[in-house]
Amino acid sequence: MEKIHKDFNNSEIVFEYLKNKANPLTAYELLNGLRSKGMIAPTTIYRALEKLTNSGRIHKIESLNAWTVCCENHNKKTAIFEICDDCGNVTEHLDSSFTESIKKLSKRTGFLPNKPIFEIHGQCANCTSSI
Ligand SMILES: [Zn+2]
Ligand SMILES: [Zn+2]
Repeated sequence: MEKIHKDFNNSEIVFEYLKNKANPLTAYELLNGLRSKGMIAPTTIYRALEKLTNSGRIHKIESLNAWTVCCENHNKKTAIFEICDDCGNVTEHLDSSFTESIKKLSKRTGFLPNKPIFEIHGQCANCTSSI
């Protein structure tokens, strides 16, 4: 019982920490930042991240191997992330016609997608305007 309670707390601590950061964080960065809160084992961090990812409260950006909080506005729409390679800013977008296209594609091929996430790398408006 006590262990379940502790796991829950760890997830909340990781979530709050991520929420206050503008950019996605790697497990290593989380571990460094949360050491003062008593999270010293990477497995603790990974378990919390897995739990939060499975419940949809955070997303894993595979191409960065980092995590970011969800905009919590999905309505079963597929997340599209714009990732700025200059400043590291990541923005989550949801688009219904895009989501429909992906659904149609999967239906046609019989593929069963596992919570698809799309990642687009480039430069954000802030960075392109400062050139
Ligand atoms: Zn999301
Ligand atoms: Zn940028």
